[in-house]
Amino acid sequence: MRGLSGRSARYWPGIRVSDMNNIITIDGPGGSGKSTISRMLARKINFLYLDTGAMYRAVALAANREDIDFRDGKRLGELCGLLDLHFDTDEEPPSLFLGNEDISMAIRGPEMDMLSSEVSAVKEVREAMVSIQRKMARETKVVAEGRDMGTVVFREAGHKFFLTASHAVRAERRYKERLERGEAVLRSVVEAELKRRDRQDETRSISPLRPAEDAIVIDSTGLDPEEVVEEILDHLAGS
Ligand code: C5P
Repeated sequence: MRGLSGRSARYWPGIRVSDMNNIITIDGPGGSGKSTISRMLARKINFLYLDTGAMYRAVALAANREDIDFRDGKRLGELCGLLDLHFDTDEEPPSLFLGNEDISMAIRGPEMDMLSSEVSAVKEVREAMVSIQRKMARETKVVAEGRDMGTVVFREAGHKFFLTASHAVRAERRYKERLERGEAVLRSVVEAELKRRDRQDETRSISPLRPAEDAIVIDSTGLDPEEVVEEILDHLAGS
């Protein structure tokens, strides 16, 4: 098994090489298509894909298992300090391991959407995750996907994108994803949960979800993932 930093990267010919250009950030709300697009882009240009949402989901899973009160920042911070989290980037999509356990499926359980959003609003959790994320991106080339990649974690990144889509389209994507996972879920429930999570992510005091001032905003409503990736590649080639 190879870890996150274990893969060699080649440059896509259109990208000018400098340290800043080693990091491409892709932020956006749930259902904006950022996971699919970040993964496709990373594969295409041979960068590593860093799924930071998965990391907050892992914290939520571990805290839930340990029965930790999500208001207890101190204990959550201690938990984060003990977590042995790593991605296996040989897998497509990369698997996330907590110690020896592959938690890739467990973190996608329906309750993890809200729990990860709750836990990610805790200062101690964010500090711990940001530090791990920066370490993971050191000396490698990454497509970093999340909510605060361009605004906080990799503020110096050379290329920043923010993906959006209409609420209806985002809810439909999430609904389909959950049906495909075999969950019996109502469309109206998915819509309401997405709205709640958006509000929670956008209004929290630390690292709220918003585009970085220098991010290129792409509305993926009506576009398929390939078209969005092409648009990003055009920006990269032209910058
Ligand atoms: O992207 P994903 O839906 O997997 O993220 C799960 C949750 O983790 C989000 O709702 C958000 O609250 C949180 N998150 C975050 N910062 C990131 C990535 C995700 O706060 N960089």
